[in-house]
Amino acid sequence: MTPLLRQWRALRRMALCSCALLAALLHSTGTSAACPPLPLALHAVAPGVWVKPAQPNAPSGWTEPTLVWADAHTAWVLDPGPHRCAGLALRRWLQQHLPGRTQHLINTHAHPENVLANSAWPAGTPIHALAGTREQMNKRCPTCLAHLRQTLGQRWMQGSTIVLPNHTLQPGQWLTLAGQRWQVRAHTHAHTESSLSLWQPEQRTWVAAGLLAWGGLPDLGRSRVQPWLTALNEIQATRPHALWGGPSSASGLAQLARTQGYLQALDGDITQAMAQGKSVLEHLGQPPAPALVPWVRELPMKQRHELNVMHEWRLREEEDWGVE
Ligand SMILES: [Zn+2]
Repeated sequence: MTPLLRQWRALRRMALCSCALLAALLHSTGTSAACPPLPLALHAVAPGVWVKPAQPNAPSGWTEPTLVWADAHTAWVLDPGPHRCAGLALRRWLQQHLPGRTQHLINTHAHPENVLANSAWPAGTPIHALAGTREQMNKRCPTCLAHLRQTLGQRWMQGSTIVLPNHTLQPGQWLTLAGQRWQVRAHTHAHTESSLSLWQPEQRTWVAAGLLAWGGLPDLGRSRVQPWLTALNEIQATRPHALWGGPSSASGLAQLARTQGYLQALDGDITQAMAQGKSVLEHLGQPPAPALVPWVRELPMKQRHELNVMHEWRLREEEDWGVE
């Protein structure tokens, strides 16, 4: 081998090593475009309808239910998930199972777990929401995005951006989803300032989204007891056959009763304590009422319950004092 050829081969080896090193470095720092593996587990609940059930504490952050309706031309996705990775997984599923459909998204309420996956769809994709939900997303999404980046990490949140709804849903409006008519029901101060549910009268089926506390105890931080109870009572008054979103067909109805049960117990507890002239701290310092005991056995639940009491108590006091 000539010295010139030896030199050329050594230089080539060095170049190959550098490329391999760079590729390894990009991969280890998470700069590669690959999302973590994300099995979808969408299952059919009716002809043309699939549900990814609620999964409290999912490591991917995809804790809330996602639904897909499709006919021969159009696919609708309700609450596509917490990040672009979730949206990309859904788009792959749609491509595989329902190719060629025009895709529409629905955002039921302004929680990041439901809406930040909007960014996985091409610009201009129709995204439907109540006007109040869009307003809340505009106000809160920057903070929510930063929070999810912190809690879930960059690998899950890579490429996620805020994409606001571009189509306004009206309360009472009817949508045709998978060939059936569904009514948009609007709820204020129930789970969030502006949340929607969907009602299918022929099948007596509801999609109640955030109105059901899939993770356990309702979080009242952005709502009030009475409007939330009113929303749940409206659903119950229709004698529903199914509420989609839970891990089994029975779990939706059970979760409705459970969420209602807590809110009723909380309402009675606060009303009684305030009538007795107690202060909130005095009240929280005493053992819980029997109806609330099952809700406060574990520490995280107890803490959330105490925050719920303080939040509702303060707002009732402000109403009594006429504070705007
Ligand atoms: Zn929510």
